[in-house]
Amino acid sequence: MSRVPAATVSRLVTYFRILSDLEAQGVEKTSSDDLAVVAGVSAFQVRKDLAYFGRFGTRGTGYKVPTLLRRIRGILGLTRTWNVAIMGAGRLGQALADFPKFGEHGFVLKAGFDADPAKVGMRIGAAEVYGLDALAQKIQELEIDMAFLTVPTAAAQPAVDLLVEAGIRGILNFVPSVITVPAHVFVEPVDFLAGVKRLAFYIQKMSPEEGTP
Ligand code: NAD
Repeated sequence: MSRVPAATVSRLVTYFRILSDLEAQGVEKTSSDDLAVVAGVSAFQVRKDLAYFGRFGTRGTGYKVPTLLRRIRGILGLTRTWNVAIMGAGRLGQALADFPKFGEHGFVLKAGFDADPAKVGMRIGAAEVYGLDALAQKIQELEIDMAFLTVPTAAAQPAVDLLVEAGIRGILNFVPSVITVPAHVFVEPVDFLAGVKRLAFYIQKMSPEEGTP
């Protein structure tokens, strides 16, 4: 498999969601044209994205929804469970832990970690909050694969260093700052404030009276 661009991975997640909806509606067949319309890309792009992972469907007859869904689920690594920790059991960490759809697609919250001794022993979602002194042991013991980073900005890099040292390979970073990790660790940023700024740009661009530069 040649190197898969990050944009292709993002679109695969979109195709997966569309196919899941189609399956829930009992639709059995689809095509790159149909997927392209809902995903907002070209049919060529859909075929090119899938081609990174082999051959799919038959020319002219499209794709069987359950088959394509099963294959994309496998490509995305969603056929197994993933154990998750939340680093920083504050407002955002607690809200994420309480998100009812957390457990969908096999993501299981196993632990929270927090530097504040007052939070140790508390429960977030279905998990217990541990202190940082227990982090390395708990990550091994609970076989935690990935962490959501929800600590204050100033604590982000030291918190990441601790997680990486304990063996974490993936970090969903909610902190609006750049963090440094070794090459074997993946960071996926979720930058809420950047999204708000992009929205301001687009709304301003569509309202000339607001004054574009
Ligand atoms: P918060 O202050 O409520 O929670 C942060 C938690 O991290 C606290 O419980 C604190 O004790 C803990 N902490 C501090 N240092 C730590 C360390 N070294 N290791 C482990 N835990 C540590 O903050 P919040 O509002 O939940 O925000 C957390 C992060 O998420 C911030 O970086 C913020 O910018 C970002 N964020 C927050 C929101 C939001 O709506 N609250 C939205 C988007 C992004």
